[in-house]
Amino acid sequence: MEYEIVKYVIQIQDMGKCSYVLIDRDEKEGRIEKSCPHETWEGSNKFCIFHDPSLDKDRDLFIQKLEEQMQIETEIHSFVGYIFPENWNYFKNYKFKIPVDFNGAIFQNASFRNATFQKDADFRETTFRDLTMNGTVFKENLDFKPKQVKNLDLRNSKFFFMGMITTSLKMAKFHNSFLKKCFLHRLSMAQKNL
Ligand SMILES: [Zn+2]
Repeated sequence: MEYEIVKYVIQIQDMGKCSYVLIDRDEKEGRIEKSCPHETWEGSNKFCIFHDPSLDKDRDLFIQKLEEQMQIETEIHSFVGYIFPENWNYFKNYKFKIPVDFNGAIFQNASFRNATFQKDADFRETTFRDLTMNGTVFKENLDFKPKQVKNLDLRNSKFFFMGMITTSLKMAKFHNSFLKKCFLHRLSMAQKNL
């Protein structure tokens, strides 16, 4: 009987853990795999609410969990592989005080309007449909090599970084933006609004 109870507990623990695996590179150990530490949510038996690919996920719960996560993060905000709900405006006017990692994250429409990144921002392999960084300020390094951006709005933004933008953009707007020591590398734009 005791054995049965132990077995049951183990099954619950296995079911409750998100299946997303982060692939990272470590200078010493090379390629390393890290399991997502979050619990599955009730809309999915495989993924946490951040990694669940369904588009009709509970937006309020997503924000609540995100706030809880950000409150305890002191070194870096890690949103690796997160799939954000549609029309994501939560980071509008947001002041990121520690580095932020959006590596491999997926957004539909996203606005970072008037947000400030006080430390490094990592947008490698990030997917966007429409991205607004109108008035966004990047104070340190920006690693912006998204997988896909259909429309990019960088009007009035301020870049203080030594970085590259390596992407193919169908439409990009840069009116009044301030780009210091910035390389626009291999940009192909159907409509130039520089
Ligand atoms: Zn997860």
